[in-house]
Amino acid sequence: MHKTHVLAADVGGTNIRAAWVDGLGNLGDERRIQADLSRDDVCEDDVIHILTDFLHAYLSDYPDIQAVGLGFPGFFLGDTGVLLASPNLPRLKNMPLAKKLSEELSLSVFVQNDALCAALGEHRFGAGKNTDNLLHITLGTGVGGGLILQQQAYTGESGMAMEFGHVRVQTQATARCCGCGGSGCVEAYASSTAIQTIYAELTGKTLMTKVIYQRACEGDAVARGVFERAGGYLGQAIAEAVKLLDIHTITISGGLIGAWDILHPPLMKALNQHVISPLKGKINVFPSTLNDQAGILGAAAMALAGCD
Ligand SMILES: [Zn+2]
Repeated sequence: MHKTHVLAADVGGTNIRAAWVDGLGNLGDERRIQADLSRDDVCEDDVIHILTDFLHAYLSDYPDIQAVGLGFPGFFLGDTGVLLASPNLPRLKNMPLAKKLSEELSLSVFVQNDALCAALGEHRFGAGKNTDNLLHITLGTGVGGGLILQQQAYTGESGMAMEFGHVRVQTQATARCCGCGGSGCVEAYASSTAIQTIYAELTGKTLMTKVIYQRACEGDAVARGVFERAGGYLGQAIAEAVKLLDIHTITISGGLIGAWDILHPPLMKALNQHVISPLKGKINVFPSTLNDQAGILGAAAMALAGCD
């Protein structure tokens, strides 16, 4: 029986979550604090202070914890824990985040991009278990991706591998603009933000994604159409990734998988329409089995691997 416990944390734009996790993926004593880490003026010291205070308080209740794993929104240099840049935190550049936290907490600390953490979690504990290669997609306010190749996290040369949300699925003049400065990106159609924006444009009503989904289930054809189009574009984007990677297992986590029953059929239809013919029917796409814990469990997986 694996008894190692680690502390895992997941940093979002407005809150930070932490929990202990054991070697089997059991998770407990989840704590959460509000912290606005998406403002332009947040500096290195702010990030270190906020994280150290929160994690230190947690660790003081669990003196047997051996390592800390952290998912953070940004681009990291390989597995060094050096944050090269973070889109929402422009003042952070080339910051040795893992090393600084490790000094503050006097423990080994492992840090990686949040979407890549979700991929690691799904690969070790979730729907991507027992696969050598996995493409994991996160569908939340944005669309992210993480890649596991030969059982290892693949970061790319500057931590930007699998910027899946910015795969272009629409090239017409009417293509929707994306936050990255481009247009026609899958994120502009298949994120929670996009679903809300498109539905509001079509109906004049600004509703939460969950409510739009409920309406779709109750027969609102406009609502259903927004989700179906999102599913179709996701399938198209996955097909492009599969052409490059020849990966057969795809997993998806994030709030939008609550609409899986509507998203999945058009997704698979578009995927099989757009992949090269020898791969038609061979690509499996699964919803996450970890609910909203994929990221935190992936952060734990890094820390557990560091304890082995
Ligand atoms: Zn984009």
